[in-house]
Amino acid sequence: MSVDKAFRDMIRNEIEVQLKPLRDVVARLEEGTADLDALRNVAERLAPLAEVVGPLFGAQIPAAAKGVRRGPGRPPAARSSVTAAPAAAGGKRRGRKPAAAGADGARACAIIGCGKPSRTKGYCAAHYQKLRMLEKTHRRPSDWKDYADPDSVDDIKLPRGRAASKALAAAAQAGHAG
Ligand SMILES: [Zn+2]
Repeated sequence: MSVDKAFRDMIRNEIEVQLKPLRDVVARLEEGTADLDALRNVAERLAPLAEVVGPLFGAQIPAAAKGVRRGPGRPPAARSSVTAAPAAAGGKRRGRKPAAAGADGARACAIIGCGKPSRTKGYCAAHYQKLRMLEKTHRRPSDWKDYADPDSVDDIKLPRGRAASKALAAAAQAGHAG
């Protein structure tokens, strides 16, 4: 009897011993009396053993655990289609509303012709930014009131380039004077 065979026999016996609790659990599963803890215990006991001796007997360690060779053909279908589905069913969409304001209580921006929903003090995000900037540079028009009525305030065109710097300087002067 070769050393190799003796070794294999020894392992085989060891596996027999290790497998006994598994058989017990399987029997209880068949009777419907198994508890998951027992199953987990067996799995934990078998895990290292399977890794070490499994290859000796040509056993395949589950590909999921090892990341080694999968069989021919396509891998099992991903479950993305199942998990992705429920979100669409819920109805309400999240996120900001598109431009159509006023439909369900959201005020429109105070600036005439803007049409975006108001975000802050009656102004849309962009026009509130503009309002803040005008305020900071002492150029806020008197009709740019907080919470002005929707679509009621004339937008103003800001000067550009040199005219802009001039206007800013003038406004700053006025601001300091006032
Ligand atoms: Zn606006």
